[in-house]
Amino acid sequence: MDGPGGRDVRMLRAMTIPTEPIGSIPRPAALLEAITAFQAGKTSKAALEDAYSAALRDTIARFEQTGSPVISDGEQTKPSFATYPLSGLSLAPDGVVIPFADGHTRQLPRLTAGPFRYGVHAGSYTRAARGLTSRPIKQAVISASALSLLYPSTGIEGYPREAFVADLIDEAEADIRGALDAGAEAVQIDFTEGRLSLKLDPSGGLLRGFVDLNNKVLDRFTRDERQRIGVHVCPGGDHDSTHSADVDYAGLLPDLFQMNVGRFCLQMASEPDPKRVLRLVSRLMQPHHTVFVGVIDPIASAVETREQVRDRVLEAAGILRVAQLGTTDDCGFSPFADDVSTARETAFAKIRARVDGTQMAARQLGV
Ligand SMILES: [Zn+2]
Repeated sequence: MDGPGGRDVRMLRAMTIPTEPIGSIPRPAALLEAITAFQAGKTSKAALEDAYSAALRDTIARFEQTGSPVISDGEQTKPSFATYPLSGLSLAPDGVVIPFADGHTRQLPRLTAGPFRYGVHAGSYTRAARGLTSRPIKQAVISASALSLLYPSTGIEGYPREAFVADLIDEAEADIRGALDAGAEAVQIDFTEGRLSLKLDPSGGLLRGFVDLNNKVLDRFTRDERQRIGVHVCPGGDHDSTHSADVDYAGLLPDLFQMNVGRFCLQMASEPDPKRVLRLVSRLMQPHHTVFVGVIDPIASAVETREQVRDRVLEAAGILRVAQLGTTDDCGFSPFADDVSTARETAFAKIRARVDGTQMAARQLGV
């Protein structure tokens, strides 16, 4: 494995069970205030940039203090996990609506003209974080399939869907490649709409379409590169609610494991019957896969104890091959910038529990 941090991770893999975050950390109050003030025209762009820099520095320093062998930038400067490529683009506000179980919704914008180009690529986040830490960095990117929802079902005059999809694949490839080139140890494709798609289309047709589209992006990478690329699935997480927890994992996983990646980050801590899901995973995973099992539930307000985490890891290790097992959080702690349902302190305490509990399990397993 080439690239910055590759050697560190090989060493850590040889020593223990790998553990890494999904991505987002709740933004500090000072940053949220600066964003609100800037949007209201009450503060300068420079003051906003200062608030972003301060949040990023603080987040990386505190991430390092958790002992996490792989860290992220906490998505401090992303507006959300899904919409960062749309910064600065001219879009209509009335796109696809995502309903959550508690009744609140999030709405995607709608593309009105081509050609489709990302306003921001994830590599810019990796570069900013790279300058602040020597730890291996994981970079999350949004899936091509999520952004495919920007194209209206009624079409766009002069910009057919096929042309949009071709542009989207180019841009999604550039997003991942830019993050790898900027020094990301691993890149994670956020595919939260995978499980949601089964709610919208229980036949699985939409899900298979999503997987096919994402594989067209992944086809652009070598086998070695794909070992550094992963996918994250979950039932969504926003304001302590979910959008597809009522969809059975068993419907998602067979198609998910068709995705041409080396790493899978799977929500598991909040799953009512994790053993059943893990047994299905064990049947679906290939020898070149690493499965990062969620051992922390970001939605649960109580901080998990390290013993609880250890027991979750041991449960997974009883079903999956330990050499192919890693741990992660079930989801990001604040996928949308304005979601303050979890305190920053709680998020870091949960990450510390993940790191400590994973180490306890590794010692017990003798790896
Ligand atoms: Zn998630």
